[in-house]
Amino acid sequence: MTKKTIFASMNENDIQDLKNLLAAPKKICIIPHRSPDGDAMGSTLGLSIMLQKLGHSTTVLAPNDFPNFLAWLPESEKVAIYEKDKTTGKKILHDAEIIFTLDFNALHRTGEMQEVLSTLTVPFVMIDHHQMPDDYAQFTYSDPKMGSTCEMVYNFFGFLNVTNLIDSQIASCLYTGIVTDSGSFKFSSTTSTTHQVAGKLLDFGIDGGIIQSNLFDNNSFESLQLLGKALTNIKVLKEHNAAYTFLTQADLDFYKYHKGDTEGIVNYCLKIKGVHLAAIFIENADEKITKISFRSMGDFNVNEFARAYFQGGGHVNAAGGKSELSVPDTLARFERILSDNNIKG
Ligand code: 5GP
Ligand code: MN
Repeated sequence: MTKKTIFASMNENDIQDLKNLLAAPKKICIIPHRSPDGDAMGSTLGLSIMLQKLGHSTTVLAPNDFPNFLAWLPESEKVAIYEKDKTTGKKILHDAEIIFTLDFNALHRTGEMQEVLSTLTVPFVMIDHHQMPDDYAQFTYSDPKMGSTCEMVYNFFGFLNVTNLIDSQIASCLYTGIVTDSGSFKFSSTTSTTHQVAGKLLDFGIDGGIIQSNLFDNNSFESLQLLGKALTNIKVLKEHNAAYTFLTQADLDFYKYHKGDTEGIVNYCLKIKGVHLAAIFIENADEKITKISFRSMGDFNVNEFARAYFQGGGHVNAAGGKSELSVPDTLARFERILSDNNIKG
């Protein structure tokens, strides 16, 4: 099949091949990135429920587990986790007639699943808003200007002429990714269209306040103490308009870390006056890496920074990466990079 790039304002001819593909019931596998966040889970589950309504048989197959604060999402209990049960995961992949990859644009973002994915010959559909997409999908709907993949899935339903089939479950899923990837409508990627799409989703009978509460007000006491530890660890680098913090594996263990507990902590560094570049470094003893999240406010491009120095990527104002060095050595390297290159956030 020839490759097609599908843009936000696509014409009917571009979508016709996909419509034809989806005209008869198919076995469809829908994949979020590894360590899926609200946008990855919301977009995959929302798309999955819609495709089921259209008569398809779908499985959301996540590379690894999703955080607890997303466990209320409709159909999250049906999500298959590849790294927990590879035999089942491989079967789902080999049985699939179409593969959707959502909220990422390079197969290595799926971790170990990449090995199998790169051998499959069925059509892939990428829906994603990260910069610089790889060229692995027959259908690529890529738009880095979009604040979330969930907003793109809403558009995608428009391309398929199925917006009228959105229900409160699908709307809950899509609203979740719009809220989490926009920092509750605060980040610069938030446009009037973001609010308009969110508004249309509310009209399907969901309560935005309850969804935000589900997402952000179900913290354990220990996770707030872990936040306290991270706030105590903040170091401000005034000459670089930057601040960073870190958590060691010992900190995570002491405060009974669960997946999701460190989500959003990096943003506290950006709350400091004059700080436009922020980072959090988190030790992962299992994977023998230091995982890094970068955030910026304004023009400093953390996607390029993460790609150049920390084997990562993402968006202009939010990106991630990793280091094989210990936390202290990674911090020292980070500071050295900033001063050697005279970087100002
Ligand atoms: P977070 O810091 O919240 O984990 O991720 C911020 C953004 O960067 C997200 O869009 C995420 O998908 C992307 N990202 C996080 N880690 C990596 C990474 O290791 N590689 C790439 N390419 N993108 C990442
Ligand atoms: Mn996203």
